[in-house]
Amino acid sequence: MRTLKGIAASAGITVGKAYVYRPVELAIERWRVEDSEAELARLQRALEESKEQLSEIHVKAEVEVGEDTARIFEAHLMFLDDPVLLEEVRGRIEKERVNAEAALSDAIEGYAAIFDAMEDEYMRARAADVRDVGQRVLRNLLGSGEEPLAELSSPVIVVARDLTPSDTAQMNKEMVQGFCTAMGGTTSHTAIMARILGIPAVVGLGDVALSINNGDTLIIDGGEGVVKVAPDEETLERYARLEREFKVRRDEAKVAAQLPARTRDGHRVEVVANIGDVDSARIALEYGAEGVGLLRTEFLYLDRTTMPSEEEQYKAYRAIAELMGQRPLVIRTLDIGGDKQLPYLDIGDELNPFLGWRAIRLCLERTDLFKAQLRAILRAGHGHNVKVMFPMIADVDELRRAKALLAEARAELEAADVPFASKVEEGIMVEVPAAAIAADVLAQEVDFFSIGTNDLIQYTMACDRTNEKVAYLYQPLHPAILRLIKRVIEAAHQAGKWVGMCGEMAGDAEAIPILLGLGLDEFSMNAVAIPEAKAIIRSLSLAEAEGIAAKALSLPEV
Ligand code: PEP
Ligand code: MG
Repeated sequence: MRTLKGIAASAGITVGKAYVYRPVELAIERWRVEDSEAELARLQRALEESKEQLSEIHVKAEVEVGEDTARIFEAHLMFLDDPVLLEEVRGRIEKERVNAEAALSDAIEGYAAIFDAMEDEYMRARAADVRDVGQRVLRNLLGSGEEPLAELSSPVIVVARDLTPSDTAQMNKEMVQGFCTAMGGTTSHTAIMARILGIPAVVGLGDVALSINNGDTLIIDGGEGVVKVAPDEETLERYARLEREFKVRRDEAKVAAQLPARTRDGHRVEVVANIGDVDSARIALEYGAEGVGLLRTEFLYLDRTTMPSEEEQYKAYRAIAELMGQRPLVIRTLDIGGDKQLPYLDIGDELNPFLGWRAIRLCLERTDLFKAQLRAILRAGHGHNVKVMFPMIADVDELRRAKALLAEARAELEAADVPFASKVEEGIMVEVPAAAIAADVLAQEVDFFSIGTNDLIQYTMACDRTNEKVAYLYQPLHPAILRLIKRVIEAAHQAGKWVGMCGEMAGDAEAIPILLGLGLDEFSMNAVAIPEAKAIIRSLSLAEAEGIAAKALSLPEV
C-alpha cells in the first residue's frame, strides 16, 4: 500500500478502481503554406466546429452543475471570437505563411503564458482554460476527435495529470466516484465542480499520481487530501467504516445546521454564507445559511475578455436574490485590483498592488462601470432583502462619494421608470485599519459594518496575505486584531448599527466563541463551516462567551 498526499479539494471518502485518463498528445507540425486563403478557411472550419461542440457541452454542464459554473464554457466560446486572438492567428498565417495549427498553438501559448505569470492563484488557473480551448480547436484542425471520459460505463475513480473544464463537463458523472489529479489547486475547475457534485477529490498530488495504474484499487479521502493506492484489507475495512460515518455525519450536520444560531441563554446571532455565484448560494442554503453576508461579485468579471453589461449583472444577482427570497443578501461591489487583475481593465504596474488602485478606489474613478453595477444591484433587489456593501473604505470621504453614486444610480432608474429596491441598507467592509480605528465616525453614515479580517489582518500586521514567508505574522487572534474588532463592534453598537464579519476568521472554530463574546451580530463564512459554527454557538451561553473574550483580550499573545 502507498499513501499519496495532495490538496483536499472536495470532502468525502470513496473506494474504487482507478481509471487513468491520458489525453492524446497532439503533435503540432509546422510548415510553410502557399495558399493562405485555403489555410484561413481551414482555420475557420475548425473554429466553427469547436463552437458547436462548446455550445453542446455548455447545455450539458448547465443541467449537471448549474448555470453559473457552466458559464466557463460561455467564456470559452467568447474566447474563440476574441478579435485580438483571431487577428494574431490570421496575421501569422497571412504574413508569416505558417500553417493554422502552428499559428494557433503559438498564439494560445502566448496568452496562456500571461495568465501563468499572474500572482493570483485563481487567475493562474485560467491558463488551463485558455489551453483547453486551444486544444479543442487543434483537435478539430487535426481531425482527431476522442472523448473517452464521456464513454465511461462502470464506476471508477478518474486519475489524470490534469482535467480541463471540458474533460470534467463531458464525463459521465454517474460513473465517477472520485477524482485525483497531479496538478490543480482548490480553485481549479475540477475542484469546484467536484464540490458542487459532492464527488470526493484530491488534486495537486504531483507526478507521483501518474504512477497509478489502470485498475489499481484506490481510497480517496477528499477531506484530508489523501489517496491510498492498493490498500490492505485492514485499511479497506477502516475506510469503509469512515465512509459510512462521514455520510451519517454530513447528513446529521446538515439537519442540525437548519436550527437557528442561538446561545443556550437565548442570544440570537445570524450565521450566513460567503458565496461567489448562484450555485454556491444553493449549496449555502443546504448547509444552513440564513442568508448571504458576502457575495463576491468578482466572479462575473473574471474569466472573460470584456466587461459584463448591466443586464448580465442584473440577471446574475437576480437569480441569487430569488433563491434567497426574503433572506438577507449582502452584495459587495467590485473588489478588483490587489492580487485580482482583469485582462480588459488596465490597472497599470504598481509597486504595491495591495496598497494601490483597488476596489472602491478604482470604482470611484471608473464611475461608468461602478454605476452600471450599482444599477444592476438595485434592480436585482426589487422585492428582496438586498444590501449594498462597499469594500476597502478608508475614510468618510470615500464613503460619501460611493453613497452619492448609489443615489445617482437610484435617480437614473427612477427617471427610466425601471423597478428597483428603493430602500437598501448601505454598509462597508471594515478591512483597512484606518476604518477600524475611526469606526465611530463611519458608523454615523452606514447601516452596517462587515469586518473583512482577511485584509484587516494583512494591513494591521503589515504582512502580505499571499506571502508564505510572513505567514507567521498572520494571526487572527493577535491582541492588536482583537482590540480592533472590539472597537469596531462597540462603535457600531453605540450608533445603533449591526456588525458582521465576512473574513475567514468568522468561520474559525477557535475564534467564534471570542467573536460571540465581543458582541458580533452576524457571522459570514464558507458554507461547509456553517454546521460546526452553529453547533459551537448553540453550545455556549453569552455569559460564557463574554468570559472567553475577556480572557483572550487579556493575553499578550495567542
Ligand atoms: C476580507 O478581506 O476579509 C474579505 C472578506 O474580502 P476578500 O477576501 O475578498 O478580500
Ligand atoms: Mg478584502
